[in-house]
Amino acid sequence: MNIHEYQAKALLRSYGIPVSDGRAVTKAEDAKSAAGELDGPLWVVKAQIHAGGRGKGHFKEAEAGEKGGVRLARSVGEAAEFARQMLGRTLVTEQTGPAGKQVNRIYIEDGSDIARELYLAMLIDRNSSRISFVVSTEGGMSIEDVAHNTPDKIISFDVDPATGYSDFHGRRVAFVLGLEGAQVKQCVGIVKNLYRLFVEKDMDMLEINPLVVMTDGNLKLLDAKMSFDGNAMYRHPDIAALRDETEEDPKELAASKFDLNYIALDGEIGCMVNGAGLAMATMDIIKLYGAEPANFLDVGGGATKEKVTEAFKIITSDPQVKGILVNIFGGIMRCDIIAEGVIAAVKEVGLKVPLVVRLEGTNVELGKDIIRNSGLNVIAADNLSDAAQKIVKAVKG
Ligand code: GDP
Ligand code: MG
Repeated sequence: MNIHEYQAKALLRSYGIPVSDGRAVTKAEDAKSAAGELDGPLWVVKAQIHAGGRGKGHFKEAEAGEKGGVRLARSVGEAAEFARQMLGRTLVTEQTGPAGKQVNRIYIEDGSDIARELYLAMLIDRNSSRISFVVSTEGGMSIEDVAHNTPDKIISFDVDPATGYSDFHGRRVAFVLGLEGAQVKQCVGIVKNLYRLFVEKDMDMLEINPLVVMTDGNLKLLDAKMSFDGNAMYRHPDIAALRDETEEDPKELAASKFDLNYIALDGEIGCMVNGAGLAMATMDIIKLYGAEPANFLDVGGGATKEKVTEAFKIITSDPQVKGILVNIFGGIMRCDIIAEGVIAAVKEVGLKVPLVVRLEGTNVELGKDIIRNSGLNVIAADNLSDAAQKIVKAVKG
């Protein structure tokens, strides 16, 4: 689960980590008084969307001279004007994809005078199963570009969970960043608190880009991207409350309400499958026969008729879906329940694309009968390979 920059900064502040003073606003008329509460003489006006690269991004239908989603203002009036320009507009960055994201909230921050921009990230490294630090002197730009052009400028190391975190790690970060004197001590304090925050809140990614050395020599975190382990949210109601549903794929959001494991993909064949392994295998076999899956969907072992109906609605709401493959192995789940769910769903939402159903396992004959007697135009399949070939053929001809 991701949160906005302004929310991440509030968390950082609560852990004693240095960030600028700022105000979040959702209405243009509030921007002036929000900016007025900050000291100046520099204000930073920042679009709040769940994507990075805002500074280098552009707005759709931009007016002449209008720049990206992070702008520096020299007066309260100018800050308010930038906020007004950004609100409600669609910002396109390298991370949003061409569709962009609508800006519903602006964060106005007290501007900092920057001497150096640095990069610091923490993540759960799946290879080492440890928390890993990623550190670079090349902050302020896309880390993907740094990794591509000058990979030797990115240093990474992890924390051994047996010995845990110690100031040694913080000093190592400071050393890689080329910090000196009092900055080292400051860096050690920041990194220690970042680590504590990361672990205590079950984060899986924290990216600070840039971490800056200001002209007065002090360190500050000017940007923060945070992502949390969704499976741990039940024990962090404070973090769960920060969820912004408008930032999420509406299909994935609907799926999460019904406890369905759904991930939207780019292909044309909608899949409804029970069990993550079978869902993966189904996606593979669709690709094998020359088409692309439109989604990953695991309806789970204990799916009810309502859940299946909901899953079906989510799949058919995707305009990219040109055909649907239902592939169910009835183990805990009974085939007749699935069949009833599919029929109920088709009756409710209609069926505008070909549907192939492959059932196997508990009550399979009963399930097949229900589908056969439904009078609906459903293509039956005998096994996985047969099912995949039939749906690909139905879609591609
Ligand atoms: P991103 O483009 O989405 O990563 O947004 P950032 O918050 O990282 O801002 C982009 C860039 O704007 C930074 O790399 C800085 O160069 C600049 N910037 C952000 N905050 C300040 C600030 O307080 N003062 C100055 N001078 N520049 C800033
Ligand atoms: Mg940034």
